[in-house]
Amino acid sequence: MRFAFAVALAAVVLGAARCQEKPSIEKKEFGKMPDGAVIEQYTLKAGPATMKVITLGGIISELHVPDKTGKLDDVVLGFNNLEGYLKGHPYFGAITGRYANRIAKGKFAIDGKEYTLATNNGPNHLHGGKVGFDKVIWKAAEVKSDHTAGLELTRVSPDGEEGYPGSLDVLVRYTLTNKGELVIDYEATTTKPTPVNLTNHTYFNLRGLKGDDILGHELMINADQYTPADGTLITTGKIEPVAGTPFDFRTFKPIGKDIAKAGGDPNGYDLNYVLNRKTDALSSAAWVRDPKTGRTLEVDTTEPGIQFYSGNFLDGTITGKGGVVYKKHSGFCLETQHYPDSPNKPDWPTTILRPGQQYRTTTIYKFGVEKK
Ligand code: BGC
Repeated sequence: MRFAFAVALAAVVLGAARCQEKPSIEKKEFGKMPDGAVIEQYTLKAGPATMKVITLGGIISELHVPDKTGKLDDVVLGFNNLEGYLKGHPYFGAITGRYANRIAKGKFAIDGKEYTLATNNGPNHLHGGKVGFDKVIWKAAEVKSDHTAGLELTRVSPDGEEGYPGSLDVLVRYTLTNKGELVIDYEATTTKPTPVNLTNHTYFNLRGLKGDDILGHELMINADQYTPADGTLITTGKIEPVAGTPFDFRTFKPIGKDIAKAGGDPNGYDLNYVLNRKTDALSSAAWVRDPKTGRTLEVDTTEPGIQFYSGNFLDGTITGKGGVVYKKHSGFCLETQHYPDSPNKPDWPTTILRPGQQYRTTTIYKFGVEKK
């Protein structure tokens, strides 16, 4: 009895000590590209969380957060080594751009001039094309304060890359705070008018990577409306209420509850929600909780939309960290963004960045625990 008490006390003291440790950043080589280019992996520690980021695609390759007993687990899908990422994968943890999500047939016009982008998803352009921001090497700079550990990733996307006009200067800043938050700031400037829509494509599984699916996670999305899409997932241009549909997550609901009625081929959620908001200031977009581990995630954003994707295309052909096979619904993504195919929907919030303008968006993933 006394022993158990001592162990429990030690755990609390250790936990508290860990939270009070100063934020830290370490760098090591993760691997080499076929042409010899070195890919670095940065380990950021702040408060209760540890996150690893690689310079290929700005990929968040690990993110360890505590459960309700204080036990740390990695809650993002990915690989232990560079080979895994080079074999091809569905954007695990990556920065997606220049335009995250789809542009119909890769075509759009700005000021009457037509542009054609690479198509890489049936007839459409997806997540920046054949070599999007997820597949390029980013320059990294460490940024640290007394309560945060961060990484600034930068690159210049050249004029004409994947068909996009203008040279785009991009900065993505990951900041891990001592309160268990991951803040992602996106900034860009351009030399010619171009569509820009940047997001992060992390697949979360709050239960940790033990082979469980995410269907028992409970989700709430701050959206009364969504943007219906056609068979190739191009938005129809309509905005419809979620009320009375399987897409209604206005109150907490297990992801698996209505998923069979959500359609899709393969079946599952893969749609953009129109967030309820009055201004473009940072506001709450979604909340997730895993009843088993007590882990919670809140997503706040300055963006007008969020894509909820329930990992429908994962099909057991990829084996990730720790030998875990990524099956259908092994992870979910909450991709903050402008609505899909906005460059072809003139009535929707614009995604066109012009010379002299500054693109700036912020998304925060807040991790916590619920002790019920
Ligand atoms: C899209 C899915 C797509 C996935 C790629 C998501 O953002 O909405 O349709 O299959 O990315 O893994």
